[in-house]
Amino acid sequence: MDLSRFPRRRYTANATPLEFMPRFTQALAASCPAGRGPKIWIKRDDMLGLFPGGNKTRKLEFLVADALAEGADTLITCGAPQSNHCRITLAAAAKEGLKCRLLIEERLPGSFKESASGNQFMFRLLGAESLSVVPAGSKLMEVMQNMADDVTALGRKSYVIPVGGSNALGGLGYVACAQELQQQFFEQQVTIDRLVVGSGSAGTHAGLLAGFLGNHIPIPVIGIGVSRDPVDQEPLVYQDAQAVLDLLNAGVTIAREAVICIGGYWQPNYSVPNAGMVEAVQMLARTEGVLLDPVYTGKAMSGLINLARQGYFKPDENVLFVHTGGLPALHMHEDAVLGRVEVAN
Ligand SMILES: *Cc1c(COP(=O)(O)O)cnc(C)c1O
Repeated sequence: MDLSRFPRRRYTANATPLEFMPRFTQALAASCPAGRGPKIWIKRDDMLGLFPGGNKTRKLEFLVADALAEGADTLITCGAPQSNHCRITLAAAAKEGLKCRLLIEERLPGSFKESASGNQFMFRLLGAESLSVVPAGSKLMEVMQNMADDVTALGRKSYVIPVGGSNALGGLGYVACAQELQQQFFEQQVTIDRLVVGSGSAGTHAGLLAGFLGNHIPIPVIGIGVSRDPVDQEPLVYQDAQAVLDLLNAGVTIAREAVICIGGYWQPNYSVPNAGMVEAVQMLARTEGVLLDPVYTGKAMSGLINLARQGYFKPDENVLFVHTGGLPALHMHEDAVLGRVEVAN
């Protein structure tokens, strides 16, 4: 599919690595039925630009280019108190000489505080022009529209980016990733049988799905929910993926069964640690030296590990895990990932 008519800023110099993980594969197989499991590959989107980058870097390449094309001088976006998306949007704003106003949805009352570390600390360091906090369940798009009106009243021009950068335009970032992967599969001579990725605001999952379908790449995309079970997550992914294909005039209608989400790994709640996440974070760190995050990739990898143990994948099939970033949040849960405090099962 041709992305060239969409303006794009580039925040990463080259393709992120596509790597086989031999030691993780071996450790995983040892805990699978009959000691045999799938071969696990990783797409290192934790090495994207706007360091420490992540999946939001790819979406912002298209969203910020659109903001600049419209003549905006201020980005407005929203997220949780430890939002990677807010932090990466701020980094993009700084790099482009734009101002940036953030709306923080405080899911746990009192969790947004002056002294916090991780992404919250970086919001301040990266120079947010303003940080507004609203309680969980607030109408975020409406509040951001009010923030946009405030910017207009100052004689400036704002550009509002939805939560997670997940709209059709942001989804193009992961269509581009699907095309980057296609080239790497060819160059590295690998046949991937299935892809596993965390599914949150859904843009990453939807963009990859749209990119694979639109480019006739027959790899099923399995989204591990990080905040919702399939009954709630699949319709979001479906809608978003179709919107991406429509934006590209791809002439492709997505079959509902092409949208695959798996639940049960995010509980007890979004961003709250659980035992499967702790095992996954430790296992990848100690076999491959790769750091996952506790909120998204740790839970998504815990889903992959458990599916392998249940025999969901054929032995020796090639499974690609997409590492979507999130490093700063690791520091928010140091005690949990080291097993120093008890976490939910
Ligand atoms: C936002 C985020 C996700 C989820 O991606 P969506 O496109 O919102 O589904 C996964 N991993 C990390 C590290 C993230 O910051």
